[in-house]
Amino acid sequence: MKRLPSKGLPKGQLFEEMQEARAHDANWKDGRTFSLVYYAGEELSNVAKEAYNLFFHENGLNPMAFKSLQKFETEVLSMASSLFYGDEKVVGSLTSGGSESILMAVKAYRDWARKHRPHIKEPEMIVPTTVHAAFEKAAHYFGVKAIHAPVDNQFQVDVEEVKALINDNTILLVGSAPNYPQGIVDPIEQLGEIAEAHRIPLHVDACLGGFILPFIERLGGHIAPFDFRVPGVTSISADVHKYGYAAKGVSAILYRDEEYRRCQYFAYGDWPGGLFASPTATGTRPGGAIASAWAVMKYLGEEGYSELASKTMQATNKFLDGLATIPELQILGNPRASIFTIASNEVNIFALADTLEQRGWHIDRQQLPTCLHFMITPAHLHVADAFILDLKESVQFALDNPNLAQEGTAAMYGMIGQMPDKSKIHDFIIQTLDSTMRLR
Ligand SMILES: *Cc1c(COP(=O)(O)O)cnc(C)c1O
Repeated sequence: MKRLPSKGLPKGQLFEEMQEARAHDANWKDGRTFSLVYYAGEELSNVAKEAYNLFFHENGLNPMAFKSLQKFETEVLSMASSLFYGDEKVVGSLTSGGSESILMAVKAYRDWARKHRPHIKEPEMIVPTTVHAAFEKAAHYFGVKAIHAPVDNQFQVDVEEVKALINDNTILLVGSAPNYPQGIVDPIEQLGEIAEAHRIPLHVDACLGGFILPFIERLGGHIAPFDFRVPGVTSISADVHKYGYAAKGVSAILYRDEEYRRCQYFAYGDWPGGLFASPTATGTRPGGAIASAWAVMKYLGEEGYSELASKTMQATNKFLDGLATIPELQILGNPRASIFTIASNEVNIFALADTLEQRGWHIDRQQLPTCLHFMITPAHLHVADAFILDLKESVQFALDNPNLAQEGTAAMYGMIGQMPDKSKIHDFIIQTLDSTMRLR
C-alpha cells in the first residue's frame, strides 16, 4: 500500500513520474484510438485548456457568486438550443457529461409523471436495445423500468414495436441521434408522432451526434430531423465534450419547456447549511469545464464546426471506401455520421481486433451482434490509408491463422459470447471492475 509521502516531491520529479505513467496509455494523439478522445489539433485544444485554466478554481455550484459562469452556462445552452431549432421556451442545464444529462432527464420525467400521471406506480420507459447504457443506469438508480424495443436490420429502432410496447405505465420514449453501438440515427420523426399521439414525452439522446449532425446537415449530408423541429421531441442531451471539442466534464440537457426542467431540480429548505438548491446531480461543478465549453463554441462558431465536420466526414469516407475493398468485412446498417461498425461472416472479428492491436491500433469490441466500433475524428484523416493497409493485412493474417480465435482476448470474448447465463456475465464484469480498482 502507498502512503502519502512524508515530504512532498520536487515538481520536476513529480512531472517526470507522470509522463512515465502515461507511456503505455492509448495513443489518441496520433489517431490510434477510435473512442474516448475527440481531438482536432493543438490550436483548438489550447483554447479549451486556457479557458479551463482561467476558471480552474471557480465553482458552478453557486451561479450567484460567479456571474461569469452563469453567463457561460446560459449562453452555451442557448447556442446549443439554436443548433437544435429550439424556440425561446427551451431551457436546460449543463452537466458533467452525457451520463449525467441522461440521468437527469430520466429523473425529471419520472417526477413529471408522479405529478401529472399519479396513477402510475411502476413507471416504464421504452428504449431501443441500442440505447446508451446510461439509460440502464438511470433505470437502476431511479426505479424506472427500461423496456427494450428491438432494432430492425438497419439498426434503427422498430417503431411498430415501440407502439406495441406502450401501456398505461409508459412515462417516456427514447431515441438516439445517433446510437453509440452502430452510429445509426433512430427514426425520430416517427417516434415523435407516436409520442404526440400518446401524449408521452420523447427524449433524443444526441450526446454523440449533437455537435456534428447539425453540421453534416449544413454540408448537404442527409440527416432526417432529430431535434426540436420534430414536434414530439421534449428534450435533447448533447455532449460538448465529444464533437463539441470542449474539455472533459460538460454536456447539455435541454427541455422544450421549463415544466420538465423543474422536475429535474432538487431543493431543500431545512438544511442548517442554508437554503439548498441544485439543478443537477453534482454539488460542486468545475468552472473550468463550463468556461471551456463556452470558449470553444465561441472560438469555432458555425464555420469552425462545419470545417471540422467536413474533415471528419472526409476521414470517415476514406475509411468506408477502404472497407468497401475488403470483401470479408461488412459495415452494419447505413451510418450517416462518423461512427460505424465492422462485422464479418468469414473472419473471427475478435481475432482481427487482437491482430490490429499488435499493430498499435486501440480497438473497441462489441457484442449483440459481434462487431468492432469506430468513432472518427479529424485526427484520423492522416491515418486512414495506413489503417486500411493494416486492416487488409490483418484480415489475411486472421484468415491464415484460425487458431487466433482460441487465444488472447479473442478467446475471452468468445467465451463470454457463449455464456448462457447472463447473470454470470454481470458477476464477471463486477469482478473485473473490482480487480482493476484494487488499491496499490
Ligand atoms: C458518450 C455517450 C453517452 C454518455 O456520455 P458520457 O459523457 O460518457 O457520460 C450517452 N449517449 C451516447 C449516444 C453516447 O455516445
